Amino acid sequence: MRTLFFLAAISSFCAPSFALYAKQVPLGGPGHSNGSLPTKRIGIVGLGAGGISYIRALGVLPKHMRENWDIVAFDERHSVGGLWVPDDHPPPPPGLPATPLYPHLRTNGPHPFITLPNTPLPPNSPLLAPRATVLEYWQGAFNSASLNHTQILLKHSVTSAKWIGSPQTGFWRVRARDMERNTTKFFVFNHLLVAPGVNRFPRTITFPGQDSWVAAGKLVTHCMWYRGPNDFMGKTVLVLGGGPSGFDMARLLIESDSTRKASLLAACQDLVLTFQ
Ligand SMILES: Cc1cc2nc3c(=O)[nH]c(=O)nc-3n(C[C@H](O)[C@H](O)[C@H](O)COP(=O)(O)OP(=O)(O)OC[C@H]3O[C@@H](n4cnc5c(N)ncnc54)[C@H](O)[C@@H]3O)c2cc1C
Repeated sequence: MRTLFFLAAISSFCAPSFALYAKQVPLGGPGHSNGSLPTKRIGIVGLGAGGISYIRALGVLPKHMRENWDIVAFDERHSVGGLWVPDDHPPPPPGLPATPLYPHLRTNGPHPFITLPNTPLPPNSPLLAPRATVLEYWQGAFNSASLNHTQILLKHSVTSAKWIGSPQTGFWRVRARDMERNTTKFFVFNHLLVAPGVNRFPRTITFPGQDSWVAAGKLVTHCMWYRGPNDFMGKTVLVLGGGPSGFDMARLLIESDSTRKASLLAACQDLVLTFQ
């Protein structure tokens, strides 16, 4: 059984436990300091809420079951926490921000809905928790996970993963780029748990007349680059998209003194347009 999991959000807490019964292939490699050889190798791609949930789920399995497993977790960012790790000075488009997070972001629902089982936020946390609280939460959850033989590779981007073998037995061959040293590394795993998130790349739409609009020096921007109402000082803004992001941005724009109060919400993808 191939054990590749795509995690869209923070839902699959139980997935690793049944995935780990796949047929094993001895992978060799270095032994542990106690002289034992690893009985499984598990790769985790992404250390946002999803990847941290995997680490936590593995950490609560019985010790005798997991003590000789090797785990390697990769993330492209400099720190764990996924999109909750800020990037408050993103490059202008087409440069891509590391996260769509903006300074005034709060959770879009009560925080008990986004936490791990039996691991709540501190009791005095606002019900709609600010982004710093959420980041602290996930980093705390990561730090409290107890796993032996776990290697955390930050600033490492997984660039390919290939299953070698038959549908019944084989292993994952993973290639990762060490972004600091600009070198390539190869790994083999029995299991691969993949949690790269779904919010890294903007989905844009193009309107008739948009080219001439932009040529006239007016702005069309995706919420990926939104960092606060001050960027829209004195402008009239149309927000397209009535999902959590569009709604929250419209609220922040309306509450601020910086824009003319002519914002509109439409059921569409999130996009911020400024009219002048
Ligand atoms: C602006 C915004 C606000 C949100 N607010 C809420 C909220 O209030 N409540 C809620 O429940 N949900 C919210 N969400 C949804 C959010 O996606 C989830 O809450 C959750 O944090 C996502 O976790 P994740 O681990 O799936 O993805 P991410 O947090 O995106 O983490 C994925 C990680 O994988 C890494 N990665 C990706 N590709 C690779 C690769 N090839 N190699 C190595 N590493 C890689 C990335 O660097 C990143 O650190 C929000 C989303 C956005 C965009």
